[in-house]
Amino acid sequence: MKSTKTYQELLQENEELQLRLEEATDTIDAIRMGNIDGLIVQTDKGTQLYTLRNSDQTFRIFIEQMNEGAVTLNHDGVILYSNSRFADMICLPLEKVIGQPFFLFVMPEFKERWKTLMTAGWEDNVKDEIILAGNNIQLPVLMSLKTLMLEDGVSLSVVITDLSSQKEAQRILTRKNAELEHAQNIALHLNTTLESTVQQRTIELKQRTEELERNIIQKSDVEKQLRSNEEHLQLILETMAEGIGIFDKKGKMTYANPMARKILRLGKNELYNYKKEQHFKLDGKPLEIKEHPIAITLSSGSLLFDFEISIISESKEAAYISINAAPLKDTNGSIDGCIVTFMDVTHRRKDILQKDEFISIASHELKTPITSLKASLQFMNQMKEQPFSSVYVEMLNMANRSVDKVCDLVEDLLNATKMKEGQITLKKGSFSMYEAIEEIVPRIGTNTKQKVILSGNKSSIVFADRNKIEQVIVNFLNNAIKYAASSEEIMVSIEPLNNAIKVSVIDKGPGIPPNKLPHLFDRYFRVDFNSIQYSGLGLGLYISSQIIKKHGGDIGVESEPGKGSCFWFSIPV
Ligand code: ADP
Repeated sequence: MKSTKTYQELLQENEELQLRLEEATDTIDAIRMGNIDGLIVQTDKGTQLYTLRNSDQTFRIFIEQMNEGAVTLNHDGVILYSNSRFADMICLPLEKVIGQPFFLFVMPEFKERWKTLMTAGWEDNVKDEIILAGNNIQLPVLMSLKTLMLEDGVSLSVVITDLSSQKEAQRILTRKNAELEHAQNIALHLNTTLESTVQQRTIELKQRTEELERNIIQKSDVEKQLRSNEEHLQLILETMAEGIGIFDKKGKMTYANPMARKILRLGKNELYNYKKEQHFKLDGKPLEIKEHPIAITLSSGSLLFDFEISIISESKEAAYISINAAPLKDTNGSIDGCIVTFMDVTHRRKDILQKDEFISIASHELKTPITSLKASLQFMNQMKEQPFSSVYVEMLNMANRSVDKVCDLVEDLLNATKMKEGQITLKKGSFSMYEAIEEIVPRIGTNTKQKVILSGNKSSIVFADRNKIEQVIVNFLNNAIKYAASSEEIMVSIEPLNNAIKVSVIDKGPGIPPNKLPHLFDRYFRVDFNSIQYSGLGLGLYISSQIIKKHGGDIGVESEPGKGSCFWFSIPV
């Protein structure tokens, strides 16, 4: 008998055993996985076929594939069978699971609960949640226990459902719920706050609306007041006799009232541009732009009063404008423009010019007889030893005529002043107009060529101031002799009218231009006869017209240049 095996034999035997173990393990795995339909086994009773592919096989495959863990336990709680899923769940290899008591895989604090559950499981179908403890893992699971009748007796089947995802989901849900609740609380709080804020705001809004309404009413009252003030102001500006203009700081006109338009001769939409218009100073010299009162006020900020300038109108006549200018300042005190008033002072200026001219004429008129009187007196002084010589007498007469002339001039001047002040008094009486004129004619110093021819009703009697009426006729006749020297005949006619008598003095002299006729009876008015100089003060016709008006009569002239003139007056009888 061979008792001891060589090392080689042992190695070979070990190899064979190893192969057989592997074969057996593969067979078991194949059986478990359902890959083997049946087994042929050699028994003492001969060859026997054990079929594995029966109705259980489907369930075995199903159990292996299912997502839940599945184990069967015996009465001692030892694991008789476990699917791979359960082993996976507790992260242990299957061989370390099968044959082990199940409580080994239960967390210590759940072991008692498991025990109770298992005891109940043998009696009835029961379920409970516990926590399993595996290889470094804790797993919440639902344990469903049920007894199973198997061929070799009753066992307890346990289906283990992994609750970790569910628990996680629950945990997340709980957290989310808490968050939601928190958010809800915040929302509730906000809502409450919002509600009270809204209430507060509504009250404030109402108060503000009321205040606003009050303000609007006040504002509209103020606006009405302003509008009415503005309308008044506008009306004042529109109807003012003074022109008003507003200018910006660059000198551009921004407003002109109607009178300013009229004075400055502006078209409908035209504005006054003082930089483009040609203006003149009172001495007739051109006014430079920088000398214009608007330019002065805008550059210096000074107030200007009665600054007189002249412009030449379309009719080529000079118009005189008096300007007042005041600067407009902004809140910083800088010049922002100016307000200007315009006044047409053409009449005032012409009056002044006329007076200047009159003074010069009057002085000249007085100078001639006074010079002549002085000469006569000097001559007479030299001849005082021979007072009865003819030359002396001639000088005396000349002196008398000069004194008369001076007296006449002074008389005219005094009369003109009196007339202007309405101080004329009449000494009326009845007299024959024809006789009065007949007496005057020889006193009039006509030149040799001229003849005064009187015609008309000899018996016409008037009730008037004879001296003053004679003064009028003398003035007419003197003018005819002076201004119509070429007229050989000077006709004087007396015509009766209804309740009046008309006296006309007609000459065939140079006549008077039509545009001068309306002014002939004005004070100081004289017609310029080209280069011919006539002595006179321009007062005779003015005094005549005042005398006739005082008598309640009419005075007038008809004249045609080159044909002669007819000066007439009529007074009531
Ligand atoms: P004066 O003769 O002193 O200038 P008047 O008042 O008597 O003043 O006359 C005013 C002007 O009327 C005169 O300067 C003259 O130019 C004009 N005039 C008057 N009479 C005649 C006339 N018969 N013919 C032409 N011009 C006349």
